[in-house]
Amino acid sequence: MTDQRDVDDLKEKYYHSMAAALIGEGDLEEAVVYLQKAIDIRDTPYVWHSLAGVLRETGDMAGAAGAMSRAIKLAPCTPEYYHEQGLILRQLGRPDLAGEQECKAVALDRNYERIDMITRAAEIVERAFRGKDVPEDVVKAAVRNEELALILEKIGSGGQRIGNVLKKPSCPVGSCPAYCCHFTGKLLRHGVTIGPWKLDALLRHFTEKGIEEKDVLETFPVEQAKYAESLFPPQDIIKRNGVRSVVFPRQKDLPLGSEPARDLPRGRDYRTLMWIDTSAKPCAFLESGKCSIYDVGGEPSLDSCSSFLCMTGFVFVVLGHLGFTDEAMMAGKTMRELNSIAIDALIILAQGVYGNEEVAASERAVLDGLRSAIEEDRSGNTALLDKEIARYRDLEQGHRALKSMHLEKARQRITGLFT
Ligand code: SF4
Ligand code: SF4
Repeated sequence: MTDQRDVDDLKEKYYHSMAAALIGEGDLEEAVVYLQKAIDIRDTPYVWHSLAGVLRETGDMAGAAGAMSRAIKLAPCTPEYYHEQGLILRQLGRPDLAGEQECKAVALDRNYERIDMITRAAEIVERAFRGKDVPEDVVKAAVRNEELALILEKIGSGGQRIGNVLKKPSCPVGSCPAYCCHFTGKLLRHGVTIGPWKLDALLRHFTEKGIEEKDVLETFPVEQAKYAESLFPPQDIIKRNGVRSVVFPRQKDLPLGSEPARDLPRGRDYRTLMWIDTSAKPCAFLESGKCSIYDVGGEPSLDSCSSFLCMTGFVFVVLGHLGFTDEAMMAGKTMRELNSIAIDALIILAQGVYGNEEVAASERAVLDGLRSAIEEDRSGNTALLDKEIARYRDLEQGHRALKSMHLEKARQRITGLFT
């Protein structure tokens, strides 16, 4: 690949990221302009897909259908494109054509029969593990009573602990060939860059191990590409030989190939991971499915890699945290089986526990109890406050027992998926 190709890659990425930012700000008209600019550089299915989404939001359904057709033409094995084309065609008043597109999505992936259930389940479980479930008016309430203050502190730190489950997680799916460390195009294009501390540690590591830096690292001078500076974290832009640059891992030569690519997991939104296909090549640091520089310098992986989890990885991190699965259960299962188990387990967790109405109602009752105690603390009525704290404790104990019962039922059903 020439340097010009790197420059074009970054320009396309810049236009696409700008469009995403503009969509976030609600400036859809300008977003369309940027997506068109990205397409002018390269005709990629994912940009056409983004364009179809924006046009759909603006109400230009015919334009959206046209853009989605182009995405389908460029990536005909992507089920979500057919599914979304079905939604557009329904809005256009063509349920007959929509049905055809939906059938194509299901033919490529049976899970499209229950896609709404899957995406909803992913949202529910993800929300539960973000640790934000306790409203701020409760967790941050200033109270005078020591017992109540301790209760609020415990709830706050419990929420943070849950939030840490998904922070820089280590994926427990041992049978995965680490699809997420395979890339079509250079890692530079995907924003995988190395910060100064990790780079220092890596250079020392290379000296110790006799590794030639040029075999594993590549440097890109950011000045060569207009806008490049806005695409990388500022701390990852470092001076190398006096030139402001980003450093990123090279790739190995052997592409993933069609056989392993059949078992690719999906993203957390159940979308295809567009940067991995049969031609994707592994990062230079991938050794036997593991990151060989994971703990070099005492930092887990690279910042840009460490937060990624596909849907399968995400579900198994959650299941591992709950103590429902371990290495022994997963051993011997193929990636295809684990991808499928992950989706079923996700739905069981969402419907049986984290989105379960009975559990949610009991959680609301606990919160109301806590709010009543906070109110009594403010009113200064200690007798009533003691009563409310005792009531809260009863409610909380009941809620814990109920949730444990539902978790146990979910555990049994999920264990059954492995047999
Ligand atoms: S996050 Fe997904 S793709 Fe990456 S190693 Fe885990 S299961 Fe494999
Ligand atoms: S640096 Fe490690 S985690 Fe990141 S892509 Fe390479 S092998 Fe994977």
